[in-house]
Amino acid sequence: MNNRTTLIGALLLSSTMAMAELPDGYWTAEQTQPILDATLKVTLGVDLAHLTAAETRALAELLAAGWIMHSLYEDQLHPEANSAKQALDALHYTAAEKRDTTNLLDLYYLSKGPIVTTLDNERLPFLPVVDAVPGKNVYPPDLTREEFDAYIEARPGQTASLLAERAIVRRVTAENIAADLEMLGQYPAVDALHTGLRSKLEALDANASGLYAVPYALAYAPALYAAKKHLDTAAAILEPDAPDFAAYLRNRGRDLLSGDYESGDASWVSAEFRNLNLQFGSYETYNDSLLGVKAFYSASLLARDEEKSRALAAVMTELQSIEDSLPYEHQKRVRSHVPVGVYNVVADFGQARGANTATILPNDADHARKYGRIVLIRNNILTSPEIFEDRKRRYAAALDPGFHEHLTMDGGFNRTLWHEIGHYLGVSATADGRGLSEALAEYADFLEEMKSDLVSLYAAPRLQTIGYYDSEGMRAHYADGIRRTLQVVRPRPEQPYQNMQLMQFNFFMEYGLIEPSDESALLTINYDRYHEAVSELLAEVLLLQYAGDYELAREFIERWNYWDEMVHGKLAERMQQGARYRNTMVRYGILDD
Ligand SMILES: [Zn+2]
Repeated sequence: MNNRTTLIGALLLSSTMAMAELPDGYWTAEQTQPILDATLKVTLGVDLAHLTAAETRALAELLAAGWIMHSLYEDQLHPEANSAKQALDALHYTAAEKRDTTNLLDLYYLSKGPIVTTLDNERLPFLPVVDAVPGKNVYPPDLTREEFDAYIEARPGQTASLLAERAIVRRVTAENIAADLEMLGQYPAVDALHTGLRSKLEALDANASGLYAVPYALAYAPALYAAKKHLDTAAAILEPDAPDFAAYLRNRGRDLLSGDYESGDASWVSAEFRNLNLQFGSYETYNDSLLGVKAFYSASLLARDEEKSRALAAVMTELQSIEDSLPYEHQKRVRSHVPVGVYNVVADFGQARGANTATILPNDADHARKYGRIVLIRNNILTSPEIFEDRKRRYAAALDPGFHEHLTMDGGFNRTLWHEIGHYLGVSATADGRGLSEALAEYADFLEEMKSDLVSLYAAPRLQTIGYYDSEGMRAHYADGIRRTLQVVRPRPEQPYQNMQLMQFNFFMEYGLIEPSDESALLTINYDRYHEAVSELLAEVLLLQYAGDYELAREFIERWNYWDEMVHGKLAERMQQGARYRNTMVRYGILDD
């Protein structure tokens, strides 16, 4: 059903019934308001006066391509996202009293779909849709980890295709196979780019139950085709001004249809793009709570901050010496040129939308080895006064007053910057040459993020030695490292960032780096224990990554991932009282939504 027919349907409906009450399944303003009251609203505006004429003209195409990523992302998260949004729009349009529906639209925007995280950190539908499942909409809804593991153990030949990061998993049914073959017929370019896909689909036995993988390129072909068109048009506009950017856009457009991101990654990471940059496609796997392997779609349109980017380039020469000092024995050669830039976010879409402070891509270990990884520091998020004030309130609610002034905006900027660079350092493959996500499955993200947090903290004293920091600058980096570990609610098992932060908190606590003060019972930081504690934990994480042993990783996480209501619960309660906001809703001046 298209927008128009939905709207007409809703208009007919509204003429036959009073709209005083919401239909079943829609949350009322009484239910939604507390969540929205706890949401910090930030609008990012970026001065784009320095763009070239061609860059300015290309904006509309790049944003249109971004919207397609956004819609695909919502569909990946929930099978009814797009239809539920249409129904909500129609309901809003016809509602006499719009408070309920305005709130629901805000909640949908915040949640990027019909499932919201409540103030108790539960995931619940606020529109009349089915409950969320761990595999979201990229696996059969009833598939469990146990069934999947048993299935691939019996059929090892299918493991690689089913675990592919850019393929959805379906059950073998006559309807599914027929629909996929029909789509393949409609998109001959996808057929041509995926050798063997047609014969594989044709060979499936519809009478035998089982699972099969369908490349995103086929499953989402109509949307990806449309996105490629926008990228190609933007490339044609940008060609004379920014040929590297144009080449990247053409490569990335093709990548969408091939499902192989190598050409786009290679032409993106270290190229010269002038004033704009675009992160585009499916990269991060955080939303896959079933197996942690499926990538979700995103786009970020970014404007380069030339002055801040140049200031960073100088300190990058220290990377090899930091790598060489890390507490492990398998040091690698680090690129002398790490493409790190400071950007202001123009607009984010899909998985990238939110208050993310930085990005480093690609994740693919082979691409990173061959081409490096681009680091995009998101300046207007990191230096947003509203976001910093909110963070500081939370920190101040948990820390002894003697430590409050140690937290600064620059400290957060630098800790984040070195977290991203931390992804460049340390272990990138297991001892026996496997990729970390292959070896460690759902624990891979967890350990990788923890490593990067710790490398950032580990590097701080060295940065002081070389004059990058004065003592206050380093202390601010350290203070932000503690702020980062504070949890305002108990994390759910599938939240890699929050759980690894909680584990750091527990380690730091047991190590005596942080401890409650006698007078206030609030936390104090023993800065003189900092480097030792960080070194010890980092050594353990690097060892686990290098070993690539799933069971060892599980034991490590079980050892450190705990929550004690008397300790963590009490601190969380303090922070909940001290800080107003639990969520951040980011809007973009350039988008009129
Ligand atoms: Zn990271």
